[in-house]
Amino acid sequence: MSKTIAINAGSSSLKWQLYQMPEEKVLAKGLIERIGLKDSISTVKFDGQAASQTLDIADHVQAVKILLDDLLAHHIIEDFSEITGVGHRVVAGGEFFKDSVLIDDEALAKIEELSALAPLHNPANAAGIRAFKNILPDITSVAVFDTAFHTTMPEVAYRYPIATKYYEENQVRKYGAHGTSHYYVSREAAKALGKPVEELKLITAHIGNGISITAVDGGKSVDTSMGFTPLAGPMMGTRSGDIDPAIIPYLIENVADLKDAADVVNVLNKQSGILGIAEVSSDMREVEAGREAGDAKCTLAFDMLINRLQKFIGQYFAVLNGADALVFTAGIGENSVAVREAVVKGLSWFGMELEPEKNVFGAEGDISTPDSKVKVLVIPTDEELVIARDVERLKK
Ligand code: ADP
Repeated sequence: MSKTIAINAGSSSLKWQLYQMPEEKVLAKGLIERIGLKDSISTVKFDGQAASQTLDIADHVQAVKILLDDLLAHHIIEDFSEITGVGHRVVAGGEFFKDSVLIDDEALAKIEELSALAPLHNPANAAGIRAFKNILPDITSVAVFDTAFHTTMPEVAYRYPIATKYYEENQVRKYGAHGTSHYYVSREAAKALGKPVEELKLITAHIGNGISITAVDGGKSVDTSMGFTPLAGPMMGTRSGDIDPAIIPYLIENVADLKDAADVVNVLNKQSGILGIAEVSSDMREVEAGREAGDAKCTLAFDMLINRLQKFIGQYFAVLNGADALVFTAGIGENSVAVREAVVKGLSWFGMELEPEKNVFGAEGDISTPDSKVKVLVIPTDEELVIARDVERLKK
């Protein structure tokens, strides 16, 4: 019996999923929220049941203890020894981590060193890693990086046209993110198309709260819309995506409560994007409902999102010099019929056409017409499964 747990640790949360491997069967999953705050919440789902408890969880070590105790309490496992592997999502791997790795002291030190590239995420990821090492020191421990899939980008794509010393001395370049998702859906798309991924040009569109679009040539990422940080690209739930950088000093100079760059970046990360325009919510379901009810701000937010998505997808048709398929994934990409319809409609010149009977809620696989030169696919992403598979692959 081999059980593997996939961990996605945020600054105040810890998402997890327990698998029976190599069968890839999900045994349980859960979420611990509000770590370090009062009234933390731990939720566990298993066998069609859900259990939730509210208690104070001081840090990630305690969160891991609670999650493991929950597994015992609900008889999902009878003994810790059943868990043989853990895979941790790590946001920034920099130029150093080109693939997932077994975590030793050196790898952990490197992950912490890379915190400068993801100050909110890498320290939380490292805290999750340490917490597991404390409690289950002998199990296989693997780090899976959001950036690894994008390390195949050519220099023309990853360099910014700014003075070279900022790349050489300060590592300022495009790293991208959501790599695990783009990797997974590109492989699943190849299966759906019945061709080896090496023979395909794909544009993968991960459209959730965070949004990134990737050009995948022969299975490799050759360009992606997120940049030095996940703030770049099309507008997102609360993130601005690409804007003129001169707006930043302008706002600092002209708005009293924006005192420094950190204040503005906070606005760009948390009060912008769909939320900034629609104002009611960053949640696309609410924005679509507002648009259907005739709300002008929700309509503008929807139309701006479509415009930004189309521009990035259009760019990647150029980068790839044509594509075999466009792949929609993540919360909005998998579920929003209206977003898919609007995006593809405006790109019909590229040879894409949706089959209205196939572009419905719950659709999976090919949703384009038989004549559509470029296929359009809906592929549900599964980053946790990639993490669990990488633990199996790297196990000694
Ligand atoms: P995260 O990036 O946090 O993992 P998700 O991939 O879960 O986010 O995507 C969340 C987004 O998906 C939200 O904007 C949500 O409104 C949207 N979404 C989920 N279901 C639907 C739906 N049926 N129609 C439109 N948008 C949806």
